[in-house]
Amino acid sequence: AAKQAGGARTARFDESLRAEQSERARTAAGLRQALTDGSLFMHYQPVVDTASGRATGVEALMRWRRGGELVPPGVFIPIAEQTGLIGALGTRALRLACAQAATWHREHGLYLTVNVSTHQLRDPGFTAAVLEILADTGLPAAALVLEITESVLIDAADTPVLGSLRAHGIRIAIDDFGTGYSSLAYLHALPVDILKIDQSFIRRHEDPPRPQDVSLTRAILELARSQDLLAVAEGVETAGQAELLRDLGCPLVQGYHYGRPVDAAAIDTLMREDAFQPAA
Ligand code: C2E
Ligand code: MG
Ligand code: MG
Ligand code: MG
Repeated sequence: AAKQAGGARTARFDESLRAEQSERARTAAGLRQALTDGSLFMHYQPVVDTASGRATGVEALMRWRRGGELVPPGVFIPIAEQTGLIGALGTRALRLACAQAATWHREHGLYLTVNVSTHQLRDPGFTAAVLEILADTGLPAAALVLEITESVLIDAADTPVLGSLRAHGIRIAIDDFGTGYSSLAYLHALPVDILKIDQSFIRRHEDPPRPQDVSLTRAILELARSQDLLAVAEGVETAGQAELLRDLGCPLVQGYHYGRPVDAAAIDTLMREDAFQPAA
């Protein structure tokens, strides 16, 4: 009987594995189609300068509408990475975002920041592809930041691609800082310009903030300053968190408190309302 039950469990397991695999295959097929059918597009979230309270840049975030529904990036990006589709999707996303941001940069001096995956960094033609997109869209290299998560950055630190991007004036940001396995001793060796403090450090600030949480954030900001990195706090959701980060001298902030990711038309409206200022 025990053997039979085990067999049934195995059958159920196989079945759910098969269901998962076919769902993954369906997603991959949909993503391949999204490259050309317009269902892939970008949302933009303001990056705000704490000194002035106005936006100075935007982070481009990929969106995919499948049928009537938005699929979260947390679901489709990993599948795009596993299937290698992230290369083509990432290039498409970068082109869409640069084309959009070229106007915003011209009119309001704002910068664009775009997320990049490990697969893209491993492509020896990546720098050339980025430069071609900049040339085609008219966005200056100095107005572009590429965001790379901490663990990927450590893997890629010894590849020439980061150096060649930076040599052309493109800045590199460490995304989700504090969630990877980097040793602090490594930070000075990483070819980066901007440090984005992970949401988990910001979200923990209660009202009133606990002293140990405040010292932790202060320490990360001090670390960034000591390494000449521009700090950005991610995931600022409350007025209390916003005030705290301003008091701690965090130069740039991002989060629902300032604005959720929105479509390009909504950013146009914000710009008409003069919510943006020239980039620092
Ligand atoms: P990320 O780059 O760290 O982006 C920040 C995420 O936090 C975004 O989620 C954003 O919508 C969300 N967020 C912003 N402010 C707040 C806040 O105040 N509270 C909370 N709870 N969340 C906030 P999203 O758009 O779902 O993207 C998730 C992740 O997917 C991104 O994390 C990034 O790692 C990846 N991703 C998104 N677009 C792209 C892309 O074009 N290429 C690549 N390779 N990855 C992307
Ligand atoms: Mg990011
Ligand atoms: Mg992040
Ligand atoms: Mg991330």
